[in-house]
This record gives sequence, structure tokens and C-alpha cells, in this order.
Amino acid sequence: MFGRAPKKSDNTKYYEILGVPKSASQDDLKKAYRKAAIKNHPDKGGDPEKFKELAQAYEVLSDPEKREIYDQYGEDALKEGMGGGGAHVDPFDIFSSFFGPSFGGGGGSSRGRRQRRGEDVVHPLKVSLEDLYNGTSKKLSLSRNVICSKCKGKGSKSGASMRCPGCQGSGMKVTIRQLGPSMIQQMQQPCNECKGTGESINEKDRCPGCKGEKVVQEKKVLEVHVEKGMQHNQKITFPGEADEAPDTVTGDIVFVLQQKDHSKFKRKGEDLFYEHTLSLTEALCGFQFVLTHLDNRQLLIKLNPGEVVKPDQFKAINDEGMPIYQRPFMKGKLYIHFTVEFPDSLAPDQCKALEAVLPPRSSSKLTDMEIDECEETTMFDVNNIEEEMRRKQAHAAQEAYEEDDEMPGGAQRVQCAQQ
Ligand SMILES: [Zn+2]
Ligand SMILES: [Zn+2]
Repeated sequence: MFGRAPKKSDNTKYYEILGVPKSASQDDLKKAYRKAAIKNHPDKGGDPEKFKELAQAYEVLSDPEKREIYDQYGEDALKEGMGGGGAHVDPFDIFSSFFGPSFGGGGGSSRGRRQRRGEDVVHPLKVSLEDLYNGTSKKLSLSRNVICSKCKGKGSKSGASMRCPGCQGSGMKVTIRQLGPSMIQQMQQPCNECKGTGESINEKDRCPGCKGEKVVQEKKVLEVHVEKGMQHNQKITFPGEADEAPDTVTGDIVFVLQQKDHSKFKRKGEDLFYEHTLSLTEALCGFQFVLTHLDNRQLLIKLNPGEVVKPDQFKAINDEGMPIYQRPFMKGKLYIHFTVEFPDSLAPDQCKALEAVLPPRSSSKLTDMEIDECEETTMFDVNNIEEEMRRKQAHAAQEAYEEDDEMPGGAQRVQCAQQ
């Protein structure tokens, strides 16, 4: 367990700090700690060093396993064996476990609180499809709060601070709002005078570096590496680069990629979609065209001889889609969607020429007799069938509703609407 055999050394110090014999029971330890901790609490004018020592001693001796190691090998063994052991103990945490966090009148000092985690800062980062296909890096300049180096985040020249008069050191303020004659709303908010820290600093003692704010602004340039194949909404995180604040674990800066629309390509996961319009002649008799890819390569797209492309048809090219994230040599497919433009009208001799080469008409020839028995019709253009259907439905609903109004009772309304 230990790197080297620790020397038999001081293993009585902790007992002396707590003022108990080596044979003290857990109960004795508790009583001794409680009494000494109250007396030495820094909020009550006690010595912070002594307070810390008490917590450390109690933390070790109250744990049977640690106490045994301490009794046998002393303090150094704990430090080596426990990866720092008692060294990282927060004396205020131990104290709080006895007395709760509200000791000291106004809700405890800020020193007693557990370390908060600072908020993450999230920035959207717009990227083009080219960026995501080729990969890129973007330099972004951001300003953020860092702990003032002059005062090491204390905010004062002397390192001292007083309890905030606005919240009596609790960091929170309670506001009461009258909502009605017999109703009040009670709201707890972080104190605005001390920004929730519970501390205030004497004006004369304020750190000249940060003017008592404990933090200063710093400009920082972050280089964001956008890797090939990254997705829309994918996050790139810079751990611990958000605003620093005293007693706070600094949050992350998170960039969220926002893929911009592309004029030619659409992306679906690892695949790309490309729209191409053909003339009827191209669709029937073949074509070739140059497609400029996202890395500016020129792809020659051509049809096999004799092949025909139908309206709305898709064709795919392997390995010309998006690179796959973290496997950039693998790529998805490139789908090409074809739209075929038909001529609006044809002259009679054009029709004759086409009929000569195209497959024969499927409809059987009607006799004059048969035609005579039919009624004449006229067809008109429907430009947008969905739109036309929507309009019809809206009209029908309106009529059903109007009819309903003349009928008593709501039950029939439902029936009617369904008819
Ligand atoms: Zn305050
Ligand atoms: Zn400062």
C-alpha cells in the first residue's frame, strides 16, 4: 500500500490537538472536537489554523481505518497511503456535518460552503458544409473573468473580508411580495450587494487590481478544431475555460456547431444529396455534367450509353458523401436527385417525328362510333394539387360548422363534422 516503509514517528499529535488520551472512544473524540471547534471557529474570532488542525485530527481519528494507520505509522503514512489523506479536508465541511450549514447566525460563512461549479458558457458556432467536409480550425477571441492575481481572489489588500451587511453573510436575500389581500409570495434570491458571496470588503482595503471584485477580465483566443464529419449540434468543449470565480470550480466553454444551409448540397447524416435538372432530351438521350464537390474537386457525372433517367429518379455514387467523424477516410454516399424538364408544347410535325422513334401508344384506337357515344370534356391545369386539396378541406369544414350552428346540442356537431 505504501511506497516505502514509513518511519515510526509522531502519532500522538492528533490526540494532543483534540486534547484526548490515546485510548479515547469515538464518543470522547466527538465531544472533544465539538467543544474545541465551536471555540475556535473563525466566524467567532477563532484561529483558522487551529480550526483546520482540529478538523484534520478529527477526520482521521473518527475513521477507524485511518486511526489504525495513524496509530501505527503516524501522519506521513496517511499522506502517502491515502493520496494526500487528511491534507485535502475542508474543515468547514466537517464542522457543518456536526452543526449544519447555518451555524454562525446568518447562515454560515461562504468559506463553509462546498465548492460550487461555475456555469458552462455555451456559444453557437456557425460552420459551412465545406468546413465539416474538409475540417477547419477557427480562432475565436473571448473575454472571460479570471481570479485577480494581485489579491488571489480575496478582493482585499489584507486578505480580510467582513460579513455582507445586505444579507448578514448568508449570500441570500428574502423578498416578500404581496400578491393579494391574504397572500404573500416569499422569494429567496442571491444577495445583490455581495453577489451571493456573503462577504463585503472595506473600501480602503479593496484590491487595486480588481477593485474588490476578486476577478478581472481577460481576453483569450481559443482555437476551435472542427474535424471532418462533425455533425450539426455537435459540441466542442474547452474544459475549465469559462469564467473563474472564487471558491468555484470553473465551468467549460462549449461550442455547439451550427451547420449552415448549402446552396447545392443537402446533408443527411453521412450522406449528401444533390439536385440536378435534366432536359427531356438529356433524360432520354444521355448527358454529362461537372459537379464541383465540397473540396472543389470536379466530378464528371455521366449516364451509361442508352440509359434513360426518369423524373424524380435517384442515383448514388459511393464514397462521395460526407467523411465519417473520426474515420475520415470512410465516406457516405452522394445521392443525385433528377428532375426532368418537359417541353410545354410540341408542334404536330415534332410529334410525328417523335412517334416514329418512341414506343407505340398504349391506348387502343377508338372508332368514330365509340367516340360519338361519349361526352366531350375539358381539362384544365392543376398547378399545385396539395394546395387545391387543402383549400377544399378548409371549405368543407367551414360548411359543416355553419350547418352545425343551426342545430341544437353539441353532440350532433361531432357527428356532422364527420359526415
Ligand atoms: Zn450580501
Ligand atoms: Zn484583486
